Amino acid sequence: MPLSIVKYLKDHIEAHGPIDIGQFMSLALGHPQFGYYMKKDPFGRGGDFTTAPEISQMFGEVIGAWIADVWIQMGSPAAFTLLECGPGRGTLMADILRATKGVKGFHEAVAIHLLEISPVLKGLQQEALQKNQTPAQAAVTWHEGLETVPTDKPIIVIANEFLDALPVRQLQKTAKGWVERVIDANLHFGLKPSFSNLISKEFQDLQEGKIFEIAPLRIQFIRELCGILKHSGGAALVIDYGHVKTGAGDTFQAVYKHQYVNVLEHIGDADLTSHVDFAALRDAADINVWGPVEQGAFLKAIGIEQRAAILSQKADVESALKRLTDSDQMGSLFKVMGLSYGKNISPAGF
Ligand code: SAH
Repeated sequence: MPLSIVKYLKDHIEAHGPIDIGQFMSLALGHPQFGYYMKKDPFGRGGDFTTAPEISQMFGEVIGAWIADVWIQMGSPAAFTLLECGPGRGTLMADILRATKGVKGFHEAVAIHLLEISPVLKGLQQEALQKNQTPAQAAVTWHEGLETVPTDKPIIVIANEFLDALPVRQLQKTAKGWVERVIDANLHFGLKPSFSNLISKEFQDLQEGKIFEIAPLRIQFIRELCGILKHSGGAALVIDYGHVKTGAGDTFQAVYKHQYVNVLEHIGDADLTSHVDFAALRDAADINVWGPVEQGAFLKAIGIEQRAAILSQKADVESALKRLTDSDQMGSLFKVMGLSYGKNISPAGF
């Protein structure tokens, strides 16, 4: 057994050849022993980054209202699945459940399912949901992939900052055509021949030197999600940083203790992500797509300012509202996209 992720990666690459960035990302984040998400709690002040539900309870509360509204539009089914993908510390789900306590019949109907690979975070999720335990919160089912998620009941799905953690690959245009960026046994970047058909026609002719990102696992996730929604009926909300139009550029990034660092340093200790290409997700979906819209506009449309006004005795509410919705903070970089299947469902906020 190797003693560190660096040794493990070097041995692996020496034996099998250079790995693409997607493979690097999934090993650095998800290696069972050394992977970033597998061994620590990355969130908050003492961690590496902060997410919207960790900034303020308002985020989860208005999303709870969005979910309750969709559930009512679906005809208030007496039993339904509420799935969160990549729930982190469980804060968002706890806030959603607290905010929906007053919605008649909702807690009796809900079955909570969480998609999570990290044992550490599963433990924190369990704790967060047990704190204010209701019957609904007591019964949580975890999944490591979408395959095991039940499809016998209507479903509502939420994924905040989940897709950015799924692997991305980078292709680069050179004088000899398209090649793929890889990582060699010295843990340096290299290039290897690639298939230009990985790139859609409109981007084939990009200038030499340009980088183009593809994320087949994100596309696959959206396709599988659409399959589940088509089978069961329901809606999904996908929130992440990213762009509405596909474009060239390198957005692969590492964050360590709230600072951007070199992606090849602090391996296994830094969070690795890339911006989400919402245009590609939209193209992959074969059901109703809502948005993508900017997070600031979405949160305002579903009532975050009204919620802030109620809470505003607390000093930090105003600054949290700004952080979540202002365009120079999270309001514009983050996008929100909805998916739905079922004729009466018209989700709020778009
Ligand atoms: N939604 C949370 C956490 C975002 S961080 C929040 O907003 O605070 C990403 C989350 O996705 C973590 O819980 C991480 O463990 C999980 N995750 C990352 N890759 C995953 C994968 N391939 N399958 C399931 N969960 C994954």
